[in-house]
Amino acid sequence: MPTNLQRRNCELADLARHYIRLEKLAQAAGKQACTSACSQCRKVCCREIFCHESRDSAWLVLVRQQSESAALRYDTRKGWLAKNGCRLSAGRPPVCYEFFCSALLANPTNAAIPRARTLAKILSGVGARIHGGQHLVTLDAENLRLERVRLRLAAQLSAALAKAQNV
Ligand code: SF4
Ligand code: SF4
Repeated sequence: MPTNLQRRNCELADLARHYIRLEKLAQAAGKQACTSACSQCRKVCCREIFCHESRDSAWLVLVRQQSESAALRYDTRKGWLAKNGCRLSAGRPPVCYEFFCSALLANPTNAAIPRARTLAKILSGVGARIHGGQHLVTLDAENLRLERVRLRLAAQLSAALAKAQNV
């Protein structure tokens, strides 16, 4: 018979897997919009200090643990950045999907950018003001397990996934 804590952890892990589905949609759209420019960029904007939120956030850690990146090792100098870009398949800080540099935005022929921005917005909207005005990614593990947080998160995720399918 699972304990209450085990049951809550299982429910959260299940929500994290739903979040990964949404994150993958934002990631694929971002890749389509940015890969060509980012692969030639001489001043890549990723910094270890930005990667760090993925380790500070109880939610993003849980998401990573449910993903193919669970066993990846963090580099204290480069974070998750490697030669070919970010190594994290899931659990990246939402800002990584929201940021589009001015060079990308200045290209009016890149029709994939509006879609990538919309999906990034849907992703980062999940968990906004979820508890005491805090965003999901800033909650500690204890608050993350609160029943009302999980119920709100489940509802927000389901609405966001439905919305994302139509972008
Ligand atoms: S988003 Fe802009 S600054 Fe960042 S890696 Fe891509 S092209 Fe370079
Ligand atoms: S995209 Fe990846 S490597 Fe770049 S800042 Fe975000 S987590 Fe770090």
